[in-house]
Amino acid sequence: MLSRTDLRGRVPSSVELRATLPRAETDVEHVLHQVKPVIEAVRERGVPAVLDYTEQFDAVRPESVRVPAGELSRALDELDPEVRAALEEAIARARRVHADQKRTDTTTRVADGGTVTERWVPVQRVGLYAPGGLAVYPSSVVMNVVPAQEAGVDSLVVCSPPQREFGGLPHPTILAAAHLLGVDEVWAVGGAQAVALLAHGGQDTDGAELEPSDMVTGPGNVYVTAAKRHLRSLIGIDSEAGPTEIAVLADATADAAHVAADLISQAEHDTLAASVLITTSPELADAVDAELADRVARTKHVERIRTALTGRQSGCILVGDLDEGIRVVDAYAAEHLEVQTAEADVVAARVRNAGAIFVGPYAPVSLGDYCAGSNHVLPTSGCARHSSGLSVQSFLKGIHVVSYSEQALRDVAGHVVALADAEDLPAHGQAVTARFDG
Ligand code: NAD
Repeated sequence: MLSRTDLRGRVPSSVELRATLPRAETDVEHVLHQVKPVIEAVRERGVPAVLDYTEQFDAVRPESVRVPAGELSRALDELDPEVRAALEEAIARARRVHADQKRTDTTTRVADGGTVTERWVPVQRVGLYAPGGLAVYPSSVVMNVVPAQEAGVDSLVVCSPPQREFGGLPHPTILAAAHLLGVDEVWAVGGAQAVALLAHGGQDTDGAELEPSDMVTGPGNVYVTAAKRHLRSLIGIDSEAGPTEIAVLADATADAAHVAADLISQAEHDTLAASVLITTSPELADAVDAELADRVARTKHVERIRTALTGRQSGCILVGDLDEGIRVVDAYAAEHLEVQTAEADVVAARVRNAGAIFVGPYAPVSLGDYCAGSNHVLPTSGCARHSSGLSVQSFLKGIHVVSYSEQALRDVAGHVVALADAEDLPAHGQAVTARFDG
C-alpha cells in the first residue's frame, strides 16, 4: 500500500534527500492565493464577511460569533462522564509538564554597577485555534490553553468551526473542554476567516466588540496554516502546525502490527496526512504492508485513510542501516517520530530533527495526541528543523532590562564611541559622551 523508495547504501546528500522525501502536493504555499481574499474581506467587512465564508465553507450561518456563556456550562453538564474524566486526566498531565517549563527572570551583573535582567512577560491576548472540520479536537483546546495559562496569558479566546448539526455552535466537546479549563470566551468560526478575525477583531452581530489578539496559535488544515503564515507580522504565531505527519524509524525487531496501527492512526486525521515508514528491514516493510491492507479496510474512515496512505506525502523508505535511517529522519524532520528499534532510547537520542519523539513499543503517537502530558501542537512540513512544538515559552516574550550606574557607563564609554565611529554613527557615541562633557 505504501509506495517504496529504496535508498539502501545510497542515501543522497541532504539537499537531494529533501527533494526525494515524500511531501504533500497541496502545501501551504499553494493555497495562499485562496486565503488572501478571505483575509482581506474580513479586514474590510468584519463579521458579515466571516459569516459569508462560514456559510460557504461550513454550510451554516451562526447567529453570532461569540458563543453565549450558558452554552459552555450546558455542554459541560451534558458531557459524557467518561470523556470528562479523560479530559481531566489529559489536562492534569499536560499541566504537570507545562508547569515545569515556566521561565524565571535572570539578572546578569555585566560589570560593577551594570546589570542586564531578562524579564519574561506573557503575551497579553491570545487566540487559540481548535480544529473542527473532518474531526473535532477538544484535545487541541487542552494543548493550546494549558501552556498559555501556565505562561500567565491574561486574555484567551478559543476559536473552533461552527457545526451545522449543533445549530452553528462549535462541537459541544470543544465548549465543554473550554469551560473545564476556565476559558469563557469561545468564538464559532473556523478556517482562514477565523485567523483573520482573531488578528483584526471586529464587531459581533449584537454589536459586542470582538477584540483582536496579539498572537494566534494552534493546529489546523492548510487554509488555517496559510492564514497564519500570511498574517504572521501583524500577529505572533506558533510554528506552522498543518496536516499531521508520522514517521516511524523501525528495524527488524519492530512489531509490524503496531507500526501499521500507528501509521493508520495519523492518516485518520486528513487526506493530506503523511505516514512514512523508514526501515532497515524489507521483511518488516512487507509485513507492515500486509497489516495495512488488512487493517485499513476495517477502519471507520477507510476512504480518508486510504487516500492519505496512498498520497505522495506517504511512503516507505528502505535504508541500509540505522545511520542512514537517522540521516533520512533528520532530513524529513517529522512532526511525530516513533523509534521502534532495538535500543530505541539510544537511537532516539541521536535524532536532531523532530517535533516530538516517541520511544519504544509502548509510546504510540496517539498517546501523545491525548494523554502523555506532552504537547500535540507540533511543527509540520519540515519546520521541526528549526522550530519547536507549542510550550509555555511560545507565549512568553523576553525583555532585556538594562541598568547602568554613572560610573559603569563612564567605564565603557570609550568602547561605545569606538564602535559607533566604526559604524559611522557618531551621534550614537555622542549620546554617551554628552553625559560626561564639561
Ligand atoms: P480545521 O478546523 O483546521 O479546518 C476546517 C475549516 O477549514 C472549516 O471551518 C472551513 O471554514 C475551512 N475550509 C474547509 N474547506 C475550505 C476550502 N476549500 N477553502 C477555504 N477554507 C476551507 O479542521 P480540519 O479540516 O479537520 O483539519 C484539521 C487539521 O489539523 C488536520 O489536517 C490535522 O492533521 C491537523 N492537526 C495538526 C496538529 C499538529 O499539531 N500539527 C494537531 C491536530 C490536528
